[in-house]
Amino acid sequence: MEMIEEQIFTPLRNKVTQGRRISLQEAELLYQRASDEQLQELALIVRSRFHPEKEASWTRMCIINFTNICIAKCDFCAFYRLPHQEGTYTLTAEELVRSVEIFHQGGDGYIGFNGGFNPKLSLATYREVFGEVRRRFPDMVLYEMTIPEFMFYCKLSKVPYEEGAAYLKASGTAWIPGGGAEVLSPSFRLRHSPGKYTVDDYFQAQAAVIRQGIGSTATMMIGMDESPRERFEHLERLRHFQDLWKKMPSFLCWTYKPWNTSFGGQEISDQDYLRWLAICRIFLDNFKHIRTSVLTRHEVALHGLRYGADDLDLPTSDEVISKAGGEIPTDHKKILDHGRKLGYSLKRRAASLAQPS
Ligand code: SF4
Repeated sequence: MEMIEEQIFTPLRNKVTQGRRISLQEAELLYQRASDEQLQELALIVRSRFHPEKEASWTRMCIINFTNICIAKCDFCAFYRLPHQEGTYTLTAEELVRSVEIFHQGGDGYIGFNGGFNPKLSLATYREVFGEVRRRFPDMVLYEMTIPEFMFYCKLSKVPYEEGAAYLKASGTAWIPGGGAEVLSPSFRLRHSPGKYTVDDYFQAQAAVIRQGIGSTATMMIGMDESPRERFEHLERLRHFQDLWKKMPSFLCWTYKPWNTSFGGQEISDQDYLRWLAICRIFLDNFKHIRTSVLTRHEVALHGLRYGADDLDLPTSDEVISKAGGEIPTDHKKILDHGRKLGYSLKRRAASLAQPS
């Protein structure tokens, strides 16, 4: 990897050290030409505005898939089944409660629910099912659906996003995280996922969710055929959105698993992931928490702490990743020990990340 000449890098370092924001052109320059060490240096300067140098947080995260029926047909997805295909399922409230119970016995508090665009479900189904889960486990943090699912069920129920969000909020929904964002670039969406949503629509839905007082987060999936320009479109839109609303506590970047998908391809390298994580920390200067993905990068994700990340989830299961050929890293002690060997003090995630901002 090359390195940016000192006379160009020094003004950039000064800018970041003074807490000033880097431009899109400067971020592109860093991505194309900075050495790993230069990226780490800037990412750690931005990280130090929010967190002590050698501290990071973690939580165990259980991902439960509510339904695998989906009509969006994204070409990067190995998880979904069309309604008429074999092997479809939709869990009942009782089955969901049982799945949560197993995780709850382990003493952990985060559950992410993930499903498809199932034409047989509705906002009312979600309200009823998750109302029951919440009633049984009032102490748990429940990520009840992702923004794209919320969008789909609002459309299916023929209600505007504002009304859909108010309806869920009134029934107690606390979180609708920004999973399923992949790359928020119109050209990327057209190539891979035209049936899911448009970028403008995505942000309108997320704004409605936030306005109604429901917590949300930011995510990104890299590693398909997205161009640097498309990746940066995603970061620009996110930074702008966060400037407007200032409500998202965290950003998570994870990577595409190519097996059993119609798009196929190969996984990106660890270095590509870590370099991009550093760019995210430097460019997204209005996000307190940058989360590194143990789910998709295993122990390597811990090196992300040296590239600006400060938080991680330890996954127990995720059918979306398993179906796409990813192995779920469940030896959590080994992963945490690895982080400690790198010199980090790793603590359970603080309440600030469990509360909508
Ligand atoms: S990524 Fe989500 S929306 Fe797209 S096909 Fe898979 S389940 Fe459906």
